[in-house]
Amino acid sequence: MTELTREYAELLDKQDQLSHFRDEFYLQSNTIYLDGNSLGLLSKRAEASLLSIVDSWKTLGIDGWMQGEHPWYYFAEKLGKLSAPLVGAKPREIIVTGSTTTNLHQLVATFYKPQGKRSKILADELNFPSDIYALQSQLTIKGYDPKTHLVQVKSRDGRTIYEEDIIDAMTEEIVLIILPTVLYRSGQLLDIERLTKEAHKRGIVIGFDGCHSVGAIPHYFSEWDVDFAYWCNYKYVNSGPGGVGGLYVNERHHGKTPGLAGWFGSNKEKQFDMKHEFTPAADSGAYQIGTPHILSMAPLYGSLQLFKEAGINELRKKSLRSTTYLMELIDQELSQFGFHMANPKEDSRRGGHVSLEHEEAARICKALKKNGVIPDFRSPNVIRLAPMAFYTSYVEIWESVQILKKVMVEKQYEEFKNEREVIA
Ligand SMILES: *Cc1c(COP(=O)(O)O)cnc(C)c1O
Repeated sequence: MTELTREYAELLDKQDQLSHFRDEFYLQSNTIYLDGNSLGLLSKRAEASLLSIVDSWKTLGIDGWMQGEHPWYYFAEKLGKLSAPLVGAKPREIIVTGSTTTNLHQLVATFYKPQGKRSKILADELNFPSDIYALQSQLTIKGYDPKTHLVQVKSRDGRTIYEEDIIDAMTEEIVLIILPTVLYRSGQLLDIERLTKEAHKRGIVIGFDGCHSVGAIPHYFSEWDVDFAYWCNYKYVNSGPGGVGGLYVNERHHGKTPGLAGWFGSNKEKQFDMKHEFTPAADSGAYQIGTPHILSMAPLYGSLQLFKEAGINELRKKSLRSTTYLMELIDQELSQFGFHMANPKEDSRRGGHVSLEHEEAARICKALKKNGVIPDFRSPNVIRLAPMAFYTSYVEIWESVQILKKVMVEKQYEEFKNEREVIA
């Protein structure tokens, strides 16, 4: 039972090789931040790279495109190259551009090639709504009815999706598959390699939404031959609110004309020829559309330096240790309060957060916040708790569970309404 003591948590912190990264982040006193899977916190490095870009605008004006520490004209490619180790891709396969949803639109516009009967898109019924909206509108644009042409694999338990069920749904009518790497609610990690193999056996193109895994879990997109992927950088990658997203396209597909063309997707040497014939970049840069959002990309540079120093494999190891520790504490301290742990328990099947279900979840979250613990509520009944490998200490995990226990014992949640806020 030593695991239950604060001293044990302190010991874990002492043994933690990554603990010094905590000083790199802006943490608020009296607050335990467990919501880095929705919006990662600001690091000093990210702040510095943002200020450096602001300074280049201040001092260089238009010449900032080609001069300064980070010439803006090549910044998306530079950040793509730095992102490559996070997802196991070749530098030229990644570009930092757009948002999760706009990148999905771009990729579906490029890779959805219906041919006769082979015209349906396969997704799952638990993916994030924005992904589903994008797929519905892409089908509509092509003249198909999403009701018949978007096939969504059912969940057997409302929390997870069985890989077997996805594979069974890979029929000869399916031409494209879009799945999350990690499900945003339950935190289930899908077997990306296996699903990619099975899709390719059937001649189906497959792409993944990496929002809940990039920056938390190492991937091997190139090696696994994943066709494409897209993700946001403001969750585990700590690039700031609305930070520009990332996109991977396997080099096998390079040279295709993107579905949504724009001048920033040009071959960079030709772009300023201002010709009306589009010459796409020879790499994933082709998927850019308009002028890059330089200020919203700037913090990513500093943040990626931290990833380079820590290493994604080490971060994953700590994340697994932290979530394992959190799950053990929850099992031992909270068993009589009606929580259900909805995330898979095996390391190979879970992402970076613990998913707790409770019928009073909305107001339990409000009570936690009042006590200085920042969780994440997902309607109707999910509390997501995400210890961040970069900055959450084991003592904070221990304290969070003590506070949650106190909230339950004293029924502190009863002073709040069990409804979500506008943002939750
Ligand atoms: C966070 C998230 C999004 C958000 O999309 P944006 O275009 O960045 O607003 C989309 N899909 C998933 C799975 C997410 O987790």
